[in-house]
Amino acid sequence: MSSLTVERLDQWVSVQAARRPWAGAVVLSGERLTYSQLDGASNRLARCLIASGCRAGDRVALLMPKSPAAIACIVGIYKAGCIYVPLDPAGPARRLGTILHSCEPGWIVAAGPVGGILDELFQDEQIREGTRVGWLGSDRVEGRQIGAEHWTPALPDFPDAPVDVPTRGRDLAHIFYTSGSTGAPKGVMITHDNVMHFVEWAVRHFGVRPGDRISGHSPLHFDLSMFDIFGTFAAGGELYLVPPELNIQPAKLAEFIRTSALTQWFSVPSILNYMAKFDVVRFRDFPALRRLLWCGEVCPTPALIYWMRRLPHVTFTNLYGPTETTIASSHYTLPGCPTDETAAVPIGTACPGEELVILSDELRPVPAGTVGEVCIRGVGLSPGYWRDPERTDAAFIPDPQRADPGGRLYRTGDLARLGEDGLVYFLGRKDSQIKSRGYRIELGEVETAVRTLDGVADCAVVAIGTEGFEGALICCAYVPRPGKEVSAARLRGALSEMLPGYMLPFRWMAFDALPTNANGKVDRRWLKETFQASRERETQAHR
Ligand code: AMP
Repeated sequence: MSSLTVERLDQWVSVQAARRPWAGAVVLSGERLTYSQLDGASNRLARCLIASGCRAGDRVALLMPKSPAAIACIVGIYKAGCIYVPLDPAGPARRLGTILHSCEPGWIVAAGPVGGILDELFQDEQIREGTRVGWLGSDRVEGRQIGAEHWTPALPDFPDAPVDVPTRGRDLAHIFYTSGSTGAPKGVMITHDNVMHFVEWAVRHFGVRPGDRISGHSPLHFDLSMFDIFGTFAAGGELYLVPPELNIQPAKLAEFIRTSALTQWFSVPSILNYMAKFDVVRFRDFPALRRLLWCGEVCPTPALIYWMRRLPHVTFTNLYGPTETTIASSHYTLPGCPTDETAAVPIGTACPGEELVILSDELRPVPAGTVGEVCIRGVGLSPGYWRDPERTDAAFIPDPQRADPGGRLYRTGDLARLGEDGLVYFLGRKDSQIKSRGYRIELGEVETAVRTLDGVADCAVVAIGTEGFEGALICCAYVPRPGKEVSAARLRGALSEMLPGYMLPFRWMAFDALPTNANGKVDRRWLKETFQASRERETQAHR
C-alpha cells in the first residue's frame, strides 16, 4: 500500500488514528501505544506546549530515552507547529549546553533519568533564563535544582482533542546536530517536505504496509530514526523500538528480531557486522523478515555474505546519504549474494527527486570511472546549518550545472566513482570525518576538545581501521605541557565531560613534539601507522 499524502509529518499519525485506532503504533518492552493513544498523547503534549506559550517555529528540545512516550512527544512537538531538537540523554551536559546555546529552545521536554543533566544545564544562566521544562509521568522527580517557575503545567491536565496550528511542509521539522570539525556541533535544518519526500518514496518502493513490524534501532538523535518512525506511521505499521542495551548483546538482538517477528530491519552496518562476528543468525532465521536495510557507512562484504547466505528470503538494500540531504539519497538492492568477499557493494543510484553527481575539485563532472566528490542536488537538501551562514555557504553551493537561480548542490566530502554499470561506488572521505560504531565524528571536534585540556600543549587525533564492531578507533597523540604530568586516564576522564563516549580516543600516546612530514605538517600518516603497529603488537601479545 502506498503512503498517504499529507502536508506535515504528524498528520500521518492522525490519519492512521482515524483509520485504525486500535492498531499498534509503537512498542517497547511490553509498553505499547495504539494509533489512537499515540494521537491523543501527542495532542495533549501539543496543547501543553501551546498553553505554556510555545508558538509555531519555536524550538523544543527532547531529552529522554527512546520510548513510546518519546515518540508521542516528537509527534506532539510537530502538532504544536514547533521545531524538534533531539538531545542525546547519554551526552555530556557541556556538549548539550553548546547545542542549547545554538538553537535556543524555549522548552525542554524531559523524562527518565536525566535529572542530573537538567540540573547541570540549569546552572547556565542563559539556559535558566530562557527555558522551561515539560515532563512526562506522574511526578516531577527530575531536576531538583530547577525552580517551580521553570516547569510547564502538568501534562495530564490537558485534553487529547486535536489542535489546529497552521504550518506548511516547507517549515522546519527538526534540527539534528552532527559533529563539527571546528569544535562546535553543526545544526542541520530539515523541513517536513524533506522527510516526506524520502518517506513517501521509500514506503512505496519497499512496499511497507499495515501489519509491518518495523525496527526502531537508531537513537533518536540520528536522522535515520526519522525513517523508522515516519516510514512506519505513513504505512500504518508498528514500530518496535530496539532497547539500546541490546546493542552490546548480539544474541539478544537476534532474539529480539525473532520474537518480535520483525518484517523490516534498518540499522547501521556496525550492528550487522557485530552480529555476524558472534554468529548469532541461524539458517532461515527470522522467517517474518522481508527486508534488511542499512545506511551510514560501508557494510563489509564478508558480513553481508554472512547475512545473505543465512536469510535467502530477505532483500538487502544499501542506503547512502548524509544528514544534510535527509536520511538517504541513493539506494542499491542486491540482486543476489556476492560471491567475492573483496567486491565492493555500490551505493547505487539516486532516489527519485535527487541526483548524485561526481565532481572534480574544480566542480566539473568527472568521466565515469574517475574518482571525484559526491555532490547531491534535489528534494532532500536541507536549507542549511542553523544560524551558520558561513558553514552553509561552504557546503551548500550554487549548482554550477544549473542555470536556474536557487539551484543548490550539497558537497558531501565523500569520494566516489561512477562504475560502468551506471552505479555509484563509495571510496572514502576527502577530510577527517569518520564513522565509529555508526556515529559520524569529525576528528577536528575531538582535537579541539583535547587542546582545551589542562596539561596538553599540542595534540593530533587520527583514526585507525579495525576489523571489529567500531569500524574505526580514535587515537590521540599529545604533547604534555612542560612540567605537567598528565596520564591518558586523566585526560580521558576530563574529556568525557566534554564529549560523548563514542568520541573519546581509545588510544593515547605522549610525544615530546608532534612528528612532522617533509611539508612541516603534522605527519598523520606516520601517527596512524604507529598507533596501528602498537595495536597489532598488543593483539599479538594477548594471543
Ligand atoms: P550521517 O550524516 O551521520 O548520515 O553521515 C553521512 C556520511 O556517512 C556520508 O557522507 C558518508 O561518508 C557515510 N555514509 C552514509 N551512508 C553510507 C553508505 N551506505 N556507505 C558508505 N558510507 C556511507
